[in-house]
Amino acid sequence: PTSRLPQVGTTIFTVMSALAQECGALNLSQGFPDFALPSALTDAVAHHVRAGHNQYAPMAGVVTLREAIATKVLASYGAKVDAGNEVTVTSGATEALFCAIQAIVQPGDEVIVFDPCYDSYEPAVTLAGGQVVHVPLAAPAFCPDWAQVSAVIGPRTRAIILNTPHNPTGSVWSAQDMQQLQQRVRDTNIFLISDEVYEHIVFDGCRHESVLRYPELAARAFVVSSFGKTFHATGWKVGYCIAPSALSAEFRKIHQYVTFSTATPMQFALADFLSACPQHWQTLPAFYQAKRDRFCSLLDGSRFSVKPSSGTYFQLLEYSSISHEHDVALASRLTREAGIASIPVSVFYRQAPSDLRLLRFCFAKDDATLDAAAAILQTL
Ligand code: PMP
Ligand code: GLN
Repeated sequence: PTSRLPQVGTTIFTVMSALAQECGALNLSQGFPDFALPSALTDAVAHHVRAGHNQYAPMAGVVTLREAIATKVLASYGAKVDAGNEVTVTSGATEALFCAIQAIVQPGDEVIVFDPCYDSYEPAVTLAGGQVVHVPLAAPAFCPDWAQVSAVIGPRTRAIILNTPHNPTGSVWSAQDMQQLQQRVRDTNIFLISDEVYEHIVFDGCRHESVLRYPELAARAFVVSSFGKTFHATGWKVGYCIAPSALSAEFRKIHQYVTFSTATPMQFALADFLSACPQHWQTLPAFYQAKRDRFCSLLDGSRFSVKPSSGTYFQLLEYSSISHEHDVALASRLTREAGIASIPVSVFYRQAPSDLRLLRFCFAKDDATLDAAAAILQTL
C-alpha cells in the first residue's frame, strides 16, 4: 500500500525508551516523571472506579472537570471561558493537537511551526493535506525570529503552531514575543494552535505568557494543555482544548470521531483534585526548579555545557567537547555503553544545523535518579 506518511518512522520517544529498557539504562529520554502522583489523586481515581464511574463520559468532557478547568484559567490568566462551549477534554494534548489541526487545515494550506518542533505536529498537518513551513529558533536562546515569521506568512498561511514553554529547548516566550505575534496575525485569517502543556513549569520568576492572557489572540486560538505534565500522570492521557465556541464546535466534530470521549474515572478524579488542591500547580515551578538546579550543579566540572532552561522539565546539554558524533548516534551509544538514555535534538528539525551537538535530558526524576545520571555524565 502507499503510505499516507512516507517520511515518518517510529517516534524517537518510543525508540529511546525501548532502547533504555533493553539496555537497563537510566531513562532520561522520554519526558515523564519517575515519582508518584499526588496520593489524593490516586485515591480519587480509585474512589470513582469503585463508585461506578466507568462508562462513557460526555463527549466534550465531564462537566465538573470542564468547570474546574474554566476556574483554573480564570485564576491563572484572568481569562473567562465558558465551560459549556469553549472547553473540550481530550485523551491527552496529542489528541487535542490532532483534532485542532484537522478542524482547520485543508489541502494546500500552510502551517507555520518553529524548529526544533515537537514531533506530532507535522504528521497531523500532512494527513490534513497541508504543508508545514519551518521557521528555525536560533541557538543559544531559541527565541523566535519575527522577521523570518513575517517573511513566511502569505495568503496560504492557515495557522501558526506555537509551543511555550518549549520542548525540547526549555525556552519561554516573552510578553514582547506575544505582542509580535499579535502584530503578525492582526487583520489576517490565521488561526493559532498554542501548545501550552508545560504552562505551570516555568523558572526564575518567569511568567508563562499564555495565549489566554491576550484576548485578541485567544479569539483565533486553540489553546492546548495536558494534566499529564501538571499532575505527574502522563499515562492517564487527559488533556484539553480551549477555543472560542465556533472553533470548539468544529473541534468537537473531529474529537467525537477520533476518541468520542476520554477515560471517565480519571476525569472525575482530576475534577475533585483541582477543587480540593487548587494550589498544587502553583508548587510546580519551585519543585521543578530545584530539580533543574540539582541536576545542573551536579554537572559542574563535567565536559558538557549546560544550556539555559527557563521552563519545561528538560535540560539541553551541549557535548562538543566530548564528541563530534551525530547526536542520534551518540544518544544511542550512551544508552548502550554508558547506561544513560537521552533524546537527540536534531530529530526535531526539518534541517538541523550541521554543528548541532545537543542532547535533551528529562529531569522530572527522583533526586536519586538525577544523582546517578549526573555521576555517569561526569565520567564522559
Ligand atoms: N506537546 C508537547 C510539547 C509535549 O511535550 C507533549 C508531551 N509529551 C505533548 C504535546 C503531548 O501531551 P500528552 O501526553 O498529554 O498527549
Ligand atoms: N512529550 C514527551 C517528550 O517530549 C513524550 C511524549 C511521547 O512519548 N509521545 O518526551
